[in-house]
Amino acid sequence: MRQKLPIPALTLWFQREKRSFPWRENRSPYAVWISEVMLQQTRAEVVIAYFERWMARFPSLEALARSSLDEVLKAWEGLGYYSRARYLHRAAKEFVLRHGGKIPSRREELEKIPGLGPYTVGAILSFAFHKKAAAVDSNVARVMARYFALEDEISKSGVQKRLRVLVEKLLPKKEPWVAMEALIELGAAVCQRRPQCEACPLQDTCEGRRRGIAESLPKKSPRRETTLLKRSVAVIAWQNLLLVKRGEEGKVMADLYEFPYFEGEQRILQKIARELGLVVHFERFLPPVSHTFTRFKANLLPILFRAKENKPITGHRWVSWEEIARLPFSSGHRKILAELANQKL
Ligand code: SF4
Repeated sequence: MRQKLPIPALTLWFQREKRSFPWRENRSPYAVWISEVMLQQTRAEVVIAYFERWMARFPSLEALARSSLDEVLKAWEGLGYYSRARYLHRAAKEFVLRHGGKIPSRREELEKIPGLGPYTVGAILSFAFHKKAAAVDSNVARVMARYFALEDEISKSGVQKRLRVLVEKLLPKKEPWVAMEALIELGAAVCQRRPQCEACPLQDTCEGRRRGIAESLPKKSPRRETTLLKRSVAVIAWQNLLLVKRGEEGKVMADLYEFPYFEGEQRILQKIARELGLVVHFERFLPPVSHTFTRFKANLLPILFRAKENKPITGHRWVSWEEIARLPFSSGHRKILAELANQKL
């Protein structure tokens, strides 16, 4: 396989076409780290508001390390994969504790930090410290698979590793970080799911295009089937307090708040009495909500109940509206909360 990329054409294209983002103005290691972790969650256009809010709220590693986990999760609310936010918080504490509040520039040190995967390490080394380091995200993997007509399944860890080695070899000695970012941008803006080869600076030498197989690449492992869940959500009010519970450690919704919920749609009053020990009366149904997380699609049927008392319940809290606004909620239950805010409680 010919292992070369037309780097001058690629970087020229990048200088001409690159989109402007706040994290491209601020290349501090901290800003690079935060933006790159956020960019693994969603599209760059969506990240802008999150990034700006985050940097205003936690302007430094120290500020992030000093904050509570609830504040960090709240700032992350809506981005999904909350374990990444938990790791950001934990890693910030490690950077403060072990590295004097700085992000180190050596790969070996970065690799020891919990939650920093190969992509993030590569991105920090490349964009913040200008080293010759590969940062292979799904965009770059797609470009590589098509450009070299690679037919391996790119989600496999062995293939990912080979791609990192390949990209690192392809990067030029001079300003390798520019070519690295150009590849990411090319995947995000041109070599998308439907490749726009006519606009691509690599089109003359792209093997996938030459063979007419670009769109069928990269090969992916078959998706796991989605499991459908039906849940009744008990929105239980006592005066102006609502009953919420915090997701247990190790569970999908760890550290996020939710209303108590029950599988299925039957006998909810009895379940509330049995599992929460509360006597409640039905007030009204709230609009159903659906949300998707990992491989589940949950259809939520929220029901508003009134409790006769606000007795303490293990693992649960009665919280006011003012407090609830500051708590990080799972996305499905946040939709219920938004609906509640529009209605009279
Ligand atoms: Fe992707 Fe087409 Fe460019 Fe090849 S020529 S890298 S398939 S956009």
